[in-house]
Amino acid sequence: MNWQDQHVIVAGGAGFVGGHLVRAVLQRGARVTVLDNFHTGMRDRFAGVSNARLKIVEHDVCAPIDLSCDLIINLACPASPKKYQAAPLETWRTSIFGAVHLSELALRQGARFVQASTSEVYGDPLEHPQRESYCGNVSFTGPRACYDEGKRAAETYLMDLHREVGLDLRIARIFNTYGPGMALDDGRVVSNFVVQALSGRVLTIYGDGLQTRSFCYVSDTVDGLLALAETDDCADKIFNIGNPKEQSVLDLANLVAEMTKQDLSVQNGPAAGDDPRRRCPDISRARAILGWSPKVSLEEGLRSTLAEFRGRLS
Ligand code: NAD
Ligand code: UDP
Repeated sequence: MNWQDQHVIVAGGAGFVGGHLVRAVLQRGARVTVLDNFHTGMRDRFAGVSNARLKIVEHDVCAPIDLSCDLIINLACPASPKKYQAAPLETWRTSIFGAVHLSELALRQGARFVQASTSEVYGDPLEHPQRESYCGNVSFTGPRACYDEGKRAAETYLMDLHREVGLDLRIARIFNTYGPGMALDDGRVVSNFVVQALSGRVLTIYGDGLQTRSFCYVSDTVDGLLALAETDDCADKIFNIGNPKEQSVLDLANLVAEMTKQDLSVQNGPAAGDDPRRRCPDISRARAILGWSPKVSLEEGLRSTLAEFRGRLS
């Protein structure tokens, strides 16, 4: 793919991952149109970027849109449990109708379509680590269902569109991604611990802290999404994009405390509803087909994240 010839639509581009992805796509020389309704995104996300090839359009992906394009990357959807649980109907509608309208636009334009799906499609997994073939263990009526089932339904629709009418499709199942640029009130564990530690507050642990996640630094996730967009020859359409190094939430709290030179001080609250106990990607498919694997260690990633948050908090 020659990026310089591409007009790329990034839906949800004003969000955390979108901010990094849009910059990376611009750096490769493509033209970018961001579509965002700023539900969880930042209106000033690109304040420091002066690039005539970037256009920002306020648009809710629940409504159809017509634009010329060569590639659509659909990131539009709140991703933090705190945010999507505060707006479950909107989350559900965004997942489903966003995927429908944007994939139909891709078909009309003959554009490639990259969907940001999630490790949440595996729910509270009974298979470990999770391979793309695993069907998951998802509560479909619980507090996380608007997001988990919304993303699962979007995958169903997109795979049918691919099989029936040949949508040029790639699906990335993204695992917990963190880094600079997360909203200070985002609510996810890394940004919460970083804000709490830098403000001298106790770290809030929901449950016993022994639940695990596999944290992927945002530049690695962005590289994975770009590799997916660039790879022409992929018979498989669905890829786990995540860092296979699994950590407990308590380990993360210890590391953040150590890196901010504090004694660990935590407050244990109730476990989150339907909280997955373990989560870890099997990324052998992405390694083999995309030639992609994460490069940034949790320590390195946290160092950059702490530095950027420190700047915003001071
Ligand atoms: P985010 O909440 O920071 O960004 C989401 C963006 O989508 C925001 O800019 C928001 O305003 C926009 N948006 C929401 N609803 C919209 C709508 N109806 N119309 C237009 N724009 C809308 O989240 P993020 O962490 O950047 O995640 C981006 C994508 O990646 C999401 O689709 C998410 O499901 C997926 N993902 C992220 C992670 C992660 O750890 N960051 C993990 C798994 C999947
Ligand atoms: N969590 C926590 N303290 C916080 C925020 C989250 O202990 O301040 C826990 C949360 O209950 C979950 C894990 O950390 O077990 C990861 O939560 P996050 O919201 O980051 O992502 P997700 O649950 O979607 O993987």
